[in-house]
Amino acid sequence: FLPFAGAMCAVQDPSVEAAELERTFIAIKPDGVQRGLISEIISRFERKGYKLVAVKLVVPTKEFAMQHYDDLKGRPFFNGLCDFLSSGPVLAMVWEGQGVIKYGRKLIGATAPQNSEPGTIRGDLAISVGRNIIHGSDGPETAVAEIALWFKPEELLSYSKVTDKWLYE
Ligand code: ADP
Repeated sequence: FLPFAGAMCAVQDPSVEAAELERTFIAIKPDGVQRGLISEIISRFERKGYKLVAVKLVVPTKEFAMQHYDDLKGRPFFNGLCDFLSSGPVLAMVWEGQGVIKYGRKLIGATAPQNSEPGTIRGDLAISVGRNIIHGSDGPETAVAEIALWFKPEELLSYSKVTDKWLYE
């Protein structure tokens, strides 16, 4: 069972069990891009040891934003949220690694930055819930759906890095 969409992940290093790897969808929202936080945010995922397997800068349409946030349809902030997500460039990414879905959410912090611990992305870099700079899939099913929504299967890369064997035993 490989809990991600698209091409199967052929991990070339046999010491890394493909079945242990997972993929998650992470997006730097328009506020994070405008505030110049792309490198800061990528750096946190990269230094942890996660592997970037897809990335693109896109301006989503409002319809696309509504699809992305479909589960929040009916919430009072839904319309504003979708306007905001489609208001400028978003850096869409897929990150891969053991436990990356759950731990990626830890790196991101709580939805409301006021409740995010210092040391987390939102805790360190954001103040308001409607401008919390980053999105991350909240579970395995969401990760599969969001990766499939934002990326074509051929945009997802599978590759080994020399550090793989220094990250996993
Ligand atoms: P998360 O992004 O942490 O998974 P949700 O899926 O609950 O959180 O909400 C999606 C996004 O909607 C949040 O990241 C935030 O930008 C926005 N949002 C959530 N709650 C509110 C709120 N009460 N007011 C304004 N925006 C909100």
